[in-house]
Amino acid sequence: MDFRIYNTLTRQKEIFKPLKEGEAGIYTCGPTVYLYAHIGNMRTYIAEDGLVRAMKFLGFKVKRVMNITDVGHLTSDADTGEDKVEASARREGKSAWDVVKFYTEAFFKDFNALNCLAPDVLCPATDYIREMVDLGLALEKKGYTYVIPGDGVYFDTAKLPDYGKLAGKSHMEGLREGARIEANAQKRGLTDFAVWKFSTPEEKRQMEWDSPWGKGFPGWHMECSAMAMKHLGETMDIHCGGEDHVAIHHTNEIAQSEAATGKPFAHYWMHVRFLVLGDSGKMSKSAGGFLTASVLPEKGYDPLAYRYYCLQTHYRKQLEFTWEAVEASARGLDGLRSLAGRVMAEVPGAAPAVDRNAKYFMDFSGALADDVNMPEALAVLWETLKDSSIPAPQRLAFALATEEVLGLKLFAEKAAEELPAELAALIKEREAARKAKDFKRSDELRKALSDKGVLIEDTPKGTTWKLARG
Ligand code: AMP
Ligand code: ZN
Repeated sequence: MDFRIYNTLTRQKEIFKPLKEGEAGIYTCGPTVYLYAHIGNMRTYIAEDGLVRAMKFLGFKVKRVMNITDVGHLTSDADTGEDKVEASARREGKSAWDVVKFYTEAFFKDFNALNCLAPDVLCPATDYIREMVDLGLALEKKGYTYVIPGDGVYFDTAKLPDYGKLAGKSHMEGLREGARIEANAQKRGLTDFAVWKFSTPEEKRQMEWDSPWGKGFPGWHMECSAMAMKHLGETMDIHCGGEDHVAIHHTNEIAQSEAATGKPFAHYWMHVRFLVLGDSGKMSKSAGGFLTASVLPEKGYDPLAYRYYCLQTHYRKQLEFTWEAVEASARGLDGLRSLAGRVMAEVPGAAPAVDRNAKYFMDFSGALADDVNMPEALAVLWETLKDSSIPAPQRLAFALATEEVLGLKLFAEKAAEELPAELAALIKEREAARKAKDFKRSDELRKALSDKGVLIEDTPKGTTWKLARG
């Protein structure tokens, strides 16, 4: 089965042709660790996790690389303003390295709670300064850079005839107009960007390095080019990020990488549309007032209800955030878990191997192969679980297999001691009712437990229970 992906570069869905048969090298832009990641960022990571999981399910050997931006991301995309990490360190009265450590840990706490698979390679930008300097030198040697004294080394975008091809011509015109507002008058062109920024006497930086051009730090875009090429080669299969990266960050990654190597940087570009807030519209770190994934458990929601929420909308559609929708998703996920649990309860032993030729399996795979259509894949799972014409062991085997892709923990088993006291008490009460032959009460309690995701089974050897939900 061909895998198709929408390619921002060509503005169409294309059949994925890997560089190496059966493999996929994927680079995903990671978090800037100066603040907590918000649930909008998490939408992008969940979608990228979906791409990786779907491709693995379809048989590709995937290598995913993700960076951690711990230096060089300035408060303005026009390469002016302060370094976000340094500014955060000053605000919080911590060292820049402590800020990075703190927010990197906070990021992975959320990333893991949302059941995103760990990337194969994780690279903090500050570990790759040497590679970025080398890339800058290669660009300088080919005549693509110029120096603005006291400011930095810049990439001359006018030297690259196809500069801006990712965003498209009309979009780039608009961007140039916008760039005029915060323009650095000394830049030769409005879209020129920093390869290396100099430390200045006014700004006492904590993170700075020596370079052939003077003490300073790398431009933000440099890190992704240098690290991606180091781990995936000069050309990679798929590069991902949120839609905001199309016009500046990814456009500049392409420019500097292709200028240096003369080869295409990535064959496919996948962009995730934004999560927006109903009232104010925008959710961004710099604007403040955003929601982090940790508000979900604080409000009593399983973080995977948010994962389910995201999977219900295709990644190329804008997603509007409301608490009502989270509530509906939590109920939807509970329903799916109960349904899966009921099917499991019908199967006495272990599930058989999944039938890979069954229509539902083909439909599920087909949805994933069609530009990672998660809403469609979820619909196939729902329909199949409900279809009593399919034997329960087959339905169970299928639901277990889909876990690999959806990551919703439909069947998470928990150790008995982890069962909340309230539920353990209900189980005890039911046992007592059964002993007293009060079957009406015992059935009521079974129903109450099942509503809470605990499935009771009365076997000749006694009563056992299992959890249908994580
Ligand atoms: P940052 O930590 O700001 O560099 O962003 C991390 C990732 O989240 C990038 O891929 C961004 O494109 C993406 N992103 C930022 N804001 C949103 C949003 N509101 N919705 C979806 N993705 C976003
Ligand atoms: Zn990047």
